[in-house]
Amino acid sequence: MGIVVVGTVAFDTIETPFGRGENVLGGSATYFSTSASFFSDVSLVAVVGEDFPDEHVQFLQSRDIDVKGLSRIPGKTFHWTGKYGYDLNEAQTLDTQLNVLMEFRPNLPESYRDAEYLFLANIDPELQMEVLEQVRKPRLVACDTMNFWISSKPEALKRVLQKVDIVVINEAEARQFTGEVNLIKAARGIIALGCRRLVIKRGEYGVLMFTADSVFAAPAYPLEEVFDPTGAGDTFAGGFMGYLANTGDLSEDGIRQAIVFGSVMASFNVEDFSLNRMKRLEYKEIEARYKSFKSLTNFRDIAMP
Ligand code: AMP
Repeated sequence: MGIVVVGTVAFDTIETPFGRGENVLGGSATYFSTSASFFSDVSLVAVVGEDFPDEHVQFLQSRDIDVKGLSRIPGKTFHWTGKYGYDLNEAQTLDTQLNVLMEFRPNLPESYRDAEYLFLANIDPELQMEVLEQVRKPRLVACDTMNFWISSKPEALKRVLQKVDIVVINEAEARQFTGEVNLIKAARGIIALGCRRLVIKRGEYGVLMFTADSVFAAPAYPLEEVFDPTGAGDTFAGGFMGYLANTGDLSEDGIRQAIVFGSVMASFNVEDFSLNRMKRLEYKEIEARYKSFKSLTNFRDIAMP
């Protein structure tokens, strides 16, 4: 079986310099699973309230995402309100209503427990840990988080980071978590906690990937039109994990290639509000952008004397 993801399925209210969306579909698990579904089977673990429209669930199913692990419980769906200024790299959270997330106790369907790939998307680290404990023998586990959980549950988060293979985190959050201004030192601090590999997302500046003894850099795809950066990090992670699950190649080269597929998926997502760009994306566009990404970063080796 492919990837299991736990994260939020949400209503977002977003303001960017280019427009506003009220109660639009969002959530870390929504973006992740939609992006990963272009490459692999994905099974979702999340919770929504009674106010969540069926049409959104039908959209996930139309992408062949397994929603057996999507619970609907009494109460309101998680709601995030955020704003971006002209610097689209950093979201400002205006309000977070946890709602049904406070009652949620994930109990994975039996068919999810043999997943080979597990992604703990941005959600309460205690829930991330509960899901991690229910998956028997995953081949690869990665996780994400954000400032909200770094400040409210730092100890629970540390326990999760110590148990995963790959941590995927934003630049600002890597600094916040370690208290280090220098990004390289912050990366070393997170690796020292025990994860083997760290991927730092830097918005329009791309991605840096660290292990104890290597660094890899990929730029972001240069775009003229960026409308809404919401979900860029989660679509990146979805493309990254989706591609790894598709090929099963966990060599250094395989992981680097997956980083570029992740970057390609994020570059599409920011071209429109909410999941609108993902909804009309076709696989042939992904391949074409991967190829132009390759030529963007291709240069000659030094000629040896
Ligand atoms: P990103 O990829 O970082 O832009 O993630 C954006 C998504 O994260 C939005 O669609 C939000 O619904 C979701 N989100 C915002 N705050 C939180 C939080 N504290 N926990 C989990 N998900 C969140």
